[in-house]
Amino acid sequence: MKSHLLLLLSFAGAATSLSSLAVSQARPFPGPDVQQIYRRLLPQIDKIPAFDHHAHPGFSDDPDVDAMAAPPDASAALRTRGDNPELVAAAKALFGYPFDDLSPEHAKWLVAKKAELKKQYTGTDYFNMILDKINTESSVANRAMMPNYLDPKRFPWVFFADSFMWPFNNEHETARNPDEGVFIPLQEKMLHRWMQQENVNKLPAKFGDYLEFIVRVLEDNQKKGGIAMKFEVAYFRPTTFSDPTRQQAEDIYDRYVSDAAPAEQEYRTFQDYIFRFLVTQGGRLNLPVHIHTAVGIGDYFNLSQSNVMNLESVLRDPRYHSTMFVLIHGGYPLEREAVWLAAMKNVYLDSSFGELAQYPSAFKQTLKMWLETFPDKITFGTDCFPYNEVLGAEESYWLGAESSRMALAAALAEMISENEITETRALELAHAYLHDNAVKLYGEKVH
Ligand SMILES: [Zn+2]
Repeated sequence: MKSHLLLLLSFAGAATSLSSLAVSQARPFPGPDVQQIYRRLLPQIDKIPAFDHHAHPGFSDDPDVDAMAAPPDASAALRTRGDNPELVAAAKALFGYPFDDLSPEHAKWLVAKKAELKKQYTGTDYFNMILDKINTESSVANRAMMPNYLDPKRFPWVFFADSFMWPFNNEHETARNPDEGVFIPLQEKMLHRWMQQENVNKLPAKFGDYLEFIVRVLEDNQKKGGIAMKFEVAYFRPTTFSDPTRQQAEDIYDRYVSDAAPAEQEYRTFQDYIFRFLVTQGGRLNLPVHIHTAVGIGDYFNLSQSNVMNLESVLRDPRYHSTMFVLIHGGYPLEREAVWLAAMKNVYLDSSFGELAQYPSAFKQTLKMWLETFPDKITFGTDCFPYNEVLGAEESYWLGAESSRMALAAALAEMISENEITETRALELAHAYLHDNAVKLYGEKVH
């Protein structure tokens, strides 16, 4: 009885959104009109200026594009390989590339064309021009540091916060496998850069001073235009976080601040405290917390230990209700589970990488399932990255944006044809996913 009443109440509350639904009951198959609806929707969706919630813009010779690097000889999924012919289509669309392959001889044309355009579009104009071509209004720049060739008005900075968790002697962490041998030294480098920024030449002797140093970095990065902090912690250790006391963390800090390498369990306990400290600061400073939640590059990336659901105890912890979380890459390939975490008012999903790892026919299914669950909590991103001198952030921006818009139009066309929503509602959902849901997270700071 009580549950019936609740159901009725929630129906009454949803009256306005119900009126925008189709009048008859939803059906399990799209009708013969689905292709026609898709063709009608796609040009309208192409016209929506996008906000790219996760990307690594920059030139291939810029070491600050990411705080870490791909380990050598890492396996890449089929569509993310350099020989994907769709990248030829990207070069044609963006630069008028006249060839049908990327042979070394032909690739020279593309390198020369980009060099010519960089002379024509100087300073911040080059990447602004690329955004214009793909109809992206602004794109997050998730980078180690910002370069002077990205316009901060269109490329808001998301900085990396992992390195605060690796302040000690990391010889055990680095030796764990060849991937960590690449990743951990880069975290040490990042921590040193934050120390340089704050004129700190060695780790503070007292734990309280170390925490104050962390807060100063967050506040200064925010003053420099940082809109969020990003964790890629899943690359370096399991994402299960225990809940140690400050005293426990302080004891470990006191023991290892000078030189000796902590045992793995002690190091983890310390890191668990620092992670939760950063999450709390994210709420206090109104600095959303982005977390990599998906498969990752490198053959040693441990899928089960980085399962997005490991984060549930943190995300559903009422102590962090004022921290906004963005699950970068939407937990892929566990995106079906991940969307239910967005039931929390402060949890959002980003779809980047899903649109590249999957072809549009499969990514359409992901988006459709998300749109049917929490459409107000899902956001668009490309995860663009400058792979090499030939295939740059430009081509991956294009492929990510094109794939997402296509999959979005296809998902919505099916939902319309299956009597789930009206065409008007579909376009509202398209605006929300491509732009509005993410932008509202940052208030006046982005547009
Ligand atoms: Zn990324």
